[in-house]
Amino acid sequence: MGCKTAGSFDSSLQADRGGFFVLCTACMDAVHDHGAIARLRAEAQRCKACPLWRYATQTVFGEGSASAPVMLVGEQPGNEEDRQGHPFVGPAGLLLARALEDAGISRDAVYVTNAVKHFKWEPRGKRRIHKTPAQREIDACNRWLNAEIDSVRPRMIVCLGATAGRAVLGYSIRIGSLRGVLHAAAERPAQQVAVTYHPAYVLRQRDQERFAAAYGELVADLRGVAHALHESAELALR
Ligand code: SF4
Repeated sequence: MGCKTAGSFDSSLQADRGGFFVLCTACMDAVHDHGAIARLRAEAQRCKACPLWRYATQTVFGEGSASAPVMLVGEQPGNEEDRQGHPFVGPAGLLLARALEDAGISRDAVYVTNAVKHFKWEPRGKRRIHKTPAQREIDACNRWLNAEIDSVRPRMIVCLGATAGRAVLGYSIRIGSLRGVLHAAAERPAQQVAVTYHPAYVLRQRDQERFAAAYGELVADLRGVAHALHESAELALR
């Protein structure tokens, strides 16, 4: 079925426990410029388009496969990401990795990034506490997110939290009412957009029961993404 090139098939993204999402790596590599992301990353290190660069350690650009079918978009780097220079390496990143695994999606099959590339924080004693980015900062940073989407060209964008949803869809959203359904971004007909909780929101749940419920919903949403990709791949190969 499907592709006639000699490319191998990437089975790292499972549609569900029983099936596999099929990607021909030769086809993917042919249409994606792996150097483009590296150039964008280098350029973004010098960005001063909004004031956030002054207070952060470094620009934290997206990472992952340059031909990933799934792009995960978070809000902004956290304290740990700011120090290490990589997205989703702190506690929320660990939870996300677990949720992806439980949903049958290898982290190798996704590109992870944030709507805003510098850590916004305020001091509390010796600690740096996360502060939600303002709309003007999200707008200023949108050029980088758009460039990543244009370069990677994922088939599915998963917005982790309301800030990511606003950056991708272009309007304010409530996660609870939009999750579980695929959305279309007006300016991005090539992508379907899913909305779910940011893993940091799951971590903030105060008791075990609420944590388990929020985590279960996050995994269910990611399983839905894998399932939709599997279905669209099958249609494309018919
Ligand atoms: S947050 Fe984005 S727009 Fe603002 S300085 Fe950093 S990279 Fe540039």
